[in-house]
Amino acid sequence: MSTIDEAALLASVQDDLFIDGSWRPATGGGTLEVRDPATGQVLKTIASASVEDARSAMDAAASAFPGWAATPARTRAEILRRAFDLLQERKEQFALLMTLEMGKPLAEARGEVAYGGEFVRWFSEVAAHVQGRYGANPEGSGRMIVTHHPVGPCYLITPWNFPLAMATRKIAPALAAGCTVVIKPAALTPLTTLYFAQLLEEAGVPAGVVNVLTTIETGPVSEAIISDPRLRKLSFTGSTPVGVSLLKRAADGVLRTSMELGGNAPFVVFDDADLDKAVEGAMAAKFRNIGQACTAANRFIVHASVAEEFTRRITDRVSVMKMGRGTEDGVTVGPLIDDTAVAKTDSLVQDAVGRGAAIRIGGSRVDGPGSFYPATVLADVPRDSSLFREEIFGPVLAVTTFETEDEAVAIANETEYGLVSYVFTESLARGQRMIERLETGMSGLNVGVVSNAAAPFGGWRQSGLGREGGDEGIHEYLQTKYTLTPNPFA
Ligand code: NAD
Repeated sequence: MSTIDEAALLASVQDDLFIDGSWRPATGGGTLEVRDPATGQVLKTIASASVEDARSAMDAAASAFPGWAATPARTRAEILRRAFDLLQERKEQFALLMTLEMGKPLAEARGEVAYGGEFVRWFSEVAAHVQGRYGANPEGSGRMIVTHHPVGPCYLITPWNFPLAMATRKIAPALAAGCTVVIKPAALTPLTTLYFAQLLEEAGVPAGVVNVLTTIETGPVSEAIISDPRLRKLSFTGSTPVGVSLLKRAADGVLRTSMELGGNAPFVVFDDADLDKAVEGAMAAKFRNIGQACTAANRFIVHASVAEEFTRRITDRVSVMKMGRGTEDGVTVGPLIDDTAVAKTDSLVQDAVGRGAAIRIGGSRVDGPGSFYPATVLADVPRDSSLFREEIFGPVLAVTTFETEDEAVAIANETEYGLVSYVFTESLARGQRMIERLETGMSGLNVGVVSNAAAPFGGWRQSGLGREGGDEGIHEYLQTKYTLTPNPFA
């Protein structure tokens, strides 16, 4: 339970667009309704930006850019640090707001505030540490100078599943690098971004450096921004099909791009695994965020000799999970984001069952109100089931078995995605072999959650391009200049 009053919190969130340092209604008066997925009720009605607003936001980001880029890195760092401190003061408000608009249990929302806040702290620390280099060329005839410069105004597009962390993971490195941004949160969960923009304003971010467009006219608004010749960078987190279409669109302007796309994570359990650790890891990797994470384990690939024991233990754990509104005490399974997500999850389960999978628990829809689907465990899932090829994005744990290490690798790599993989084994050599053979940008060895602001988050293959977090994260927003000068001694 939260001690914060829901109605008062919702009333304190802005309902306008944030453009050039001021809050203003949408040109043309468009609005969008934000709903609580646990009840279907409207939480708040806010402005829905038009193409004209998109142009104004780009004007603001472009005119604020030279001043922000020239602001000393130390000053940018201190503003970000203030934002981090304010976030700590308001962590309960942010947590409740995310639970209300997205549905995740309050304890998980608090976890996201901590995780999302770390990007603000990390990039406040990184901002003043961007280094170039100086040295002789191999011929000895000159001196080479390498420097890094902010790329310019950026367009940031974020998904609904981590409303705060996906915003801070982009805004913080962009601001640290000296870039200005226009951010468009998902229409399903825009309130957290608006509330975070209020915080940034208070922390001292100058007018025009951060602009927020909430909209239901996603396509036209995005087109107006992406086709603007002043835009230099597009950073997107969302599904692979939308990412692919945006990449094609970004090609026309030869924009720098960062793409954090979908996943289909394998979770491999060997016969020499510590099953206590594997079960703990599986619960986190599968059921965190009600299964709606790009890093969610999608395919449980378990050695045949331990599959029954592993599945039984998981089923026992799932049997005591409580489903309900995320604000209620003890709830661990909140609603899915909407009814479309429920229908998709159920169709994936029914497809697997039709092919011979066995339901151990859950596996059927529940009555509303709210978009709920129960935590589900499926055993003996055939490898040609749709839920092994597509992102499930729901609380469904699907198990298949293997006999040899080579077979485990083959199954794990049998996907066009390559975001993250999880391996459980007590053999260090086997763990190292597996990590080297799995074609993913990130791996967890005997752990079920890998995300960390200090680490380079990102995927291989169709899971994306570029990295967020770590030392790499700021370079997504910097461009390199090389200068040659003569040898001063020649
Ligand atoms: P989505 O692709 O439907 O939407 C993501 C964002 O893109 C939203 O803001 C949406 O409004 C916007 N969008 C949709 N169509 C657009 C268009 N034509 N032009 C411009 N913007 C457009 O994804 P989603 O359902 O919100 O999020 C779930 C997906 O995000 C999953 O595939 C998940 O794996 C992925 N995801 C990836 C990561 C990662 O870091 N790799 C993190 C979180 C989520």
